Amino acid sequence: MRLIDAVLPDARTDSAIVKPRPTVLLVDDDDFMLEMQATMLRSMGCPVVTAASAETALRVLHTKAPAPDVIMCDLLMPGVDGIEFLQTVNKGKFGGSVILASGQGARIMHAVQTLLRGSDLLILGAFEKPVRRQALLALLDRWEPRTGAPARSGALEITCAELHAANLGAQWLLHYQPKVDLRMGEVIGMEALVRWEHPVHGLVYPDRFIATAEECGAIDGLTEWVLQEAMRQQVRWQQDGLKIEMAVNISMENLRVPGFAHQVAAWARQAGASPLDIVLEVTESRLMRPSPVPLENLVRLRMQCFGLSIDDFGTGHSSLAQLRDVPFTELKIDRGFVHGARHDPIARPILEASIEMARRLTIRAVAEGIETEDDWQMLREIGCEVGQGWFIGRPMAAALVPAWFAGWRSLQPALQQS
Ligand code: C2E
Ligand code: CA
Ligand code: CA
Repeated sequence: MRLIDAVLPDARTDSAIVKPRPTVLLVDDDDFMLEMQATMLRSMGCPVVTAASAETALRVLHTKAPAPDVIMCDLLMPGVDGIEFLQTVNKGKFGGSVILASGQGARIMHAVQTLLRGSDLLILGAFEKPVRRQALLALLDRWEPRTGAPARSGALEITCAELHAANLGAQWLLHYQPKVDLRMGEVIGMEALVRWEHPVHGLVYPDRFIATAEECGAIDGLTEWVLQEAMRQQVRWQQDGLKIEMAVNISMENLRVPGFAHQVAAWARQAGASPLDIVLEVTESRLMRPSPVPLENLVRLRMQCFGLSIDDFGTGHSSLAQLRDVPFTELKIDRGFVHGARHDPIARPILEASIEMARRLTIRAVAEGIETEDDWQMLREIGCEVGQGWFIGRPMAAALVPAWFAGWRSLQPALQQS
């Protein structure tokens, strides 16, 4: 399942009505709901086919061409329920999107979305019945016509040989994404995010190759290049008067290499960077299966004064144990708990508790995935220290950073007042 986001943003303007609208297959065993939702969808410009049961909907999908763009489906139905129906639809290679409807509360809805993870369905989101017009419009706004363009994280066969060749040919490129202090708005650092300038596929994003690089041992060469380049860039910025820290993602596989901490310290010396200005972000799920070597490397890195960040906090399985055992200096809350959390009865308490936990552990809380001004304001209200996300700045080439800085500074008076 590719889950765009389960949380409904606040009311949008009706100007969205001019966007192209999807054809919808509406599935609900409740006649009244079926009629009401169909009327609402039609008034928004969506051609609608209704089905009063999952069995009928499956027949419609088999017999009617072309397939609908969106299936809007009730979860609780007699006979084949919404979960089973969607699993069948997924097996049938339905290429459209899905909206979930339920009268059973946000937690069940969330669990169903988790259950469907791993399928190819693109879930636009979910709503509580009876649906509000604005909520439905917001969900439809997320729908994009199919373009045939390859998905960012779609299948792309990356071979180990290509990755080793990329290391040899230095086909890597870094983009930098700002981290800012949410209270004062000042920029505290940049996170280096690697991209691959692939000779055939063009710019390839890391979610397509990091896992393979880890499996075939190419991650060590990649991390070496990323760390050295990011530290050199940080020193260049410092010399230009931009006094900011540099965050670099390191893999669990890197930490399994004995002597990794010494190596990082040596690269920092070579680049002329101070460990005090370098933060190493480690993804929590990759910290599982503790063995002495990673912990030894982490402790040694911290003793050498590098900052250590627990990345994607909240998504792995042993976050609290990691937090207890590793001397982290930063807790980076996964964007799944950040964007839209103001209106999310599950994400928001987890976000607030994580920020409070960081405060009590006297480490820095960083919220990633701040996509809107509403996210920004909410995080300021609940006392999060540092933030990152598209609302602040997208990852960008080093050459674009000074211009971004100037733009950000000019925005500050308005952002601090609102
Ligand atoms: P991450 O460390 O959690 O990095 C944040 C990812 O979220 C980045 O994707 C970034 O472009 C994206 N992002 C930033 N702001 C927003 C936002 O507001 N909304 C949304 N939806 N996304 C946002 P990217 O660059 O594709 O990187 C994906 C992951 O690949 C990273 O996740 C990190 O785990 C890994 N990665 C990136 N560079 C490296 C690297 O040099 N070494 C290693 N080992 N892993 C890396
Ligand atoms: Ca990161
Ligand atoms: Ca993250």
